[in-house]
Amino acid sequence: KKVADRYLKREVLGQGTYGVVFKATDTKVSLPRNNFVESDSSKNGETVAIKKIRLGKEKEGVNVTALREIKLLKELKHPHIIELIDAFPHKENLHIVFEFMETDLEAVIRDPNLFLSPGDVKSYLQMILKGLEYCHDKWVLHRDMKPNNLLIGPNGQLKLADFGLARIFGSPGRKFTHQGNSDIDQLSKIFAAFGTPKVDQWPDMICLPDYVEYQFVPAPALRSLLPTVSEDALDLLSKMFTYDPKSRITIQQALQHRYFTSAPSPTDPLKLPRPV
Ligand code: ADP
Repeated sequence: KKVADRYLKREVLGQGTYGVVFKATDTKVSLPRNNFVESDSSKNGETVAIKKIRLGKEKEGVNVTALREIKLLKELKHPHIIELIDAFPHKENLHIVFEFMETDLEAVIRDPNLFLSPGDVKSYLQMILKGLEYCHDKWVLHRDMKPNNLLIGPNGQLKLADFGLARIFGSPGRKFTHQGNSDIDQLSKIFAAFGTPKVDQWPDMICLPDYVEYQFVPAPALRSLLPTVSEDALDLLSKMFTYDPKSRITIQQALQHRYFTSAPSPTDPLKLPRPV
């Protein structure tokens, strides 16, 4: 019952936007992919996650999205980017094989039994920014950064995943997906948190293709949203939450920010708390 003469399918891990994700065993004998051998990897092959994407004539858009994801991920190799091991069509489906990840940052944040110390948060933010720095070096935008797309491996390493919406900068003749109602809804939430952007803060704003003037919302103090974080953390976040991309801190600058060198130091990923 092997798929592609190599993968033994196991249980369903979850339902994604385009199809189901399976746990599977990669029976191909190979060196461990990382320095940390998983408990069940030494004899029976490595555990992988297979994303099964339905192919069909009326699903052209899905195909394009999937192919985009594959093309991008195959070129991205970094300790903080999820590894794409294999991709192949099987029956009516496209199968994409990823390294198996234990959990994700959303599960860690939501777990009422887990407490994240300032050093733990710093460790996660540093890993996120390192992964993103690598993407930006390659002129790749993730476009869907959120906690459940930040997967966490058995050794506590955080990796960016789900590049389905990512796009290479400047690819000619193509536009980003048009904004829908949910985007406007998202904008309202951003404006409620950070205030509506003003033209003097972001002069290029009025040139955006779908620009419309929005009812003025004043910016609350960032401190009121984040009452417990350190001054260094607040300074870094205020620079990351800058509307105008020309004034916003770059990834490289963010990683050099004093937040990462001041106490407490980032927690060793092996020592990060995780769900049981
Ligand atoms: P979506 O398309 O909604 O972003 P995905 O297709 O990426 O979701 O994933 C669906 C679910 O499958 C996830 O919520 C997660 O539980 C599981 N999953 C995805 N990728 C992996 C992986 N590499 N390792 C383990 N589980 C995974």
